[in-house]
Formats: sequence, C-alpha cells, structure tokens
Amino acid sequence: CGIVAYVGHREAYPVIIKGLKRLEYRGYDSAGIAVLNSDGLSVYKKKGKVADLEEHVIGRNISSHIGIGHTRWATHGEPNDQNAHPHYSASEDLAIIHNGIIENYSSIKKDLQNKGHVFKSDTDSEVFIHFIEEIKKSNNCSLEEAVRLALNKVVGAYAIVIMSRTEPNLLIAARKGSPLVVGLGKDEFFLASDATPIIEYTNEVVYLNDYEIAIIRDNSFVIKNIQDVKMTPYIQKLEMEL
Ligand code: GLU
Repeated sequence: CGIVAYVGHREAYPVIIKGLKRLEYRGYDSAGIAVLNSDGLSVYKKKGKVADLEEHVIGRNISSHIGIGHTRWATHGEPNDQNAHPHYSASEDLAIIHNGIIENYSSIKKDLQNKGHVFKSDTDSEVFIHFIEEIKKSNNCSLEEAVRLALNKVVGAYAIVIMSRTEPNLLIAARKGSPLVVGLGKDEFFLASDATPIIEYTNEVVYLNDYEIAIIRDNSFVIKNIQDVKMTPYIQKLEMEL
C-alpha cells in the first residue's frame, strides 16, 4: 500500500523507515525493506507494523546507499512474513516492491512453474519479479528492457520499484493506476507513493504518469513510456511545509 525507495549518498535505511512511517496513515498489514551492501542483496520483512520491522533488523547489516521499502495491504495471500514485500526473483538477484493487483498473474505463474520457477509466497507480486527475470534471461536483455516487455504483458494496476544485486546504483520504477512520485535531489533520488516522505529532502518532484518507467541511477534520471519512447519529465516545485 505504501512505497518508499532511495538511491544516493545518504544511508537508505533511515530515509525509508521514516518515509514508511509517514505513509502509515494509508493502512497496512506488513512492512519490508531490501538493501544492498557487502552482504549482498538482503530482504527483511515482517507482518505487523514498521516498528516490528525495525526490531527485526536490529543487529543486521542494513547499511546501504540504495534501498526499497514497502507497506503491504494484502490482496493476494494472507498477511504473513512470507507474503510481505519485497519479493525476490528465483536467482535472488532482483527484488521488487509492488502496490496494486496483477489480474493475469495466475496464467503467468503457471507458465513460469512449467519453466521450473518455485514461489515462496502466494502473492501476485512475486510472480511479477519472476516474470521479469524469465524475460531477461530468455531475451538476454537488460533489466530495463525486461521490465518494459513484462509491463506490456501484465494486466492490472501497479506501482513498482525494482533493484538489482548486479547494478548497485539502479532503481527501476513504473506505474499504472497506483500513484508514484520521484523526488529529485542532488545526486540522489527518492521514490514514494505520495510526496510526504520526500518533502523534507527536496521540493522538486515528478509524478509518474500511467505506463511510464523511470530509470534512476545515483546521478541520472530518465523517463520512458512502455513503448520505449523517452518522455520529458514535468518537474513540479512543491511548497515546503516543515
Ligand atoms: N497485490 C499485492 C499483494 O497482495 C500488493 C498489495 C499492496 O498494494 O500492498 O501483496
């Protein structure tokens, strides 16, 4: 139900936790985060409140300059630790957070199971990241292209953010039907379901439109549509009210 992501020079974890708390008003049943550091790409997730997640990561190496965080409002699969986001691809090289519903997930899931994919959760969202992984592998293409091809096949609503173990400065985000805002800082970027987690860091934001994909690195930001046409971002200045 809520998304917060960060890439840049700050520690991602505190930015994301604070942001998830700002989104708590939206309601949720579980919370989770993925970070990337010398231990690799690690996912921590828990049924319950953001405070339960904070307790769960005590003593873990959560230092990272990139990360994705999520609060879940269960639609497919009961609220439990396994169904909480982020979800991994089969190789555990990719992690996704997703708000929304993938309507055609069960036929995609069957196809993927026939190809040997094993799922750890009951969610539509885990299917989404395995699907992207399968497309990337079979087309031998970039993550960006695999996301685009997948988005052309899924039916439903989504705001997603994906990160990759092999590309430590890259976030790929997209939306259709569920809101997603990009905050533009100096060599840092923020993503969130609404501007409240972002406003204390920057007042320059871009609201993604439906069928747009944002390709975000620590020092660059490009928006394309799902036909691979580059879009000119409309940068809005928010009024700071701190
Ligand atoms: N459909 C997804 C799930 O059930 C995402 C729910 C949400 O928007 O939080 O896990």
